[in-house]
Amino acid sequence: MFCSRCGKELTGSPAFCVSCGARLVENRNISPKSRLATSLLAWYLGFSASTDSIWQDRDRHPDALDLWRPGIWTIIDFIVAVTGNMKDKEGRLIQKW
Ligand SMILES: [Zn+2]
Repeated sequence: MFCSRCGKELTGSPAFCVSCGARLVENRNISPKSRLATSLLAWYLGFSASTDSIWQDRDRHPDALDLWRPGIWTIIDFIVAVTGNMKDKEGRLIQKW
């Protein structure tokens, strides 16, 4: 395993890093997925999905609310992902950048 603070490789599973003294917690509940990729994906998918659904109905002119309603959920998803509270399908938090 590697120290999450200084990145030093550690043998066995010590409770503290021998190099910087950081307390080591097992990363069992942390997803290996990238938080940056998840955030960008949430942003991109949210806005492309919402604009698709607006333009599907050709006879209806989209108003400001049509654009904002899905946009707000996209922004909420994005904030959840950026702050590291998004979970992958195994229920592990996506916290690694
Ligand atoms: Zn360390």
